[in-house]
Amino acid sequence: MRTTTIHAWMTQVAESVKDRRDYLTQLDAAIGDGDHGVNMDRGFEAVGKALAAQNGAVPPGKLLTLAGKTLVSTVGGASGPLWGTAFRRAGRTLGDAEEFDGQDLLAALRAALDGVVELGAAQPGDKTMVDALGPAIDALAASLDAGEPLEVALAAATAAAEDGARATVPLQARKGRASYLGERSIGHQDPGATSAALIMAALQLAVERES
Ligand code: ADP
Ligand code: MG
Repeated sequence: MRTTTIHAWMTQVAESVKDRRDYLTQLDAAIGDGDHGVNMDRGFEAVGKALAAQNGAVPPGKLLTLAGKTLVSTVGGASGPLWGTAFRRAGRTLGDAEEFDGQDLLAALRAALDGVVELGAAQPGDKTMVDALGPAIDALAASLDAGEPLEVALAAATAAAEDGARATVPLQARKGRASYLGERSIGHQDPGATSAALIMAALQLAVERES
């Protein structure tokens, strides 16, 4: 994987988030303030523009860092700083290398999750994006360790993120705006976990298309 992979990933995220904007907003209207779809759409549209303005010589890690900075500066909600930190940490982990492999990607995603947890202090089961990202990373690691090809590992990661997002429905939120609802947050899927699954699915698609 290389710079073009990151361009393809971010372009695909922007597209998926735009397609699912109203759905993400509905999820957030149920347990938050109804802006998650709009936040993510605005953020990734800006990421698309920022990345398109770069020339092809920018290494993949630098592009991810730029994506993270762009999210921090364009998204006001909790998800902006959280995803911004995630992509900046992932970018820093990839460094200046021109190419990266499955293990590099795994390390970058782990750093992204660590950044989210450092900033937001959410534990697994708190009904946040961590509940999709965590299982996705575990599934990616298990699949790569088993010697499966990256496309298969990323499909497993996406499925785990989608399962993780669905598994937030019966949980009570303990972090973010939804936590203000207490028990009334039970019975709704977490918007941030849902967009985390979209981000993993976009990565899978981007890598599949390149191979
Ligand atoms: P806001 O809550 O400020 O309106 P968004 O609606 O864009 O921001 O994002 C809400 C999502 O952010 C939640 O669904 C949840 O997944 C995620 N989130 C909120 N707080 C945290 C946190 N402390 N740690 C991890 N994720 C969080
Ligand atoms: Mg919101």
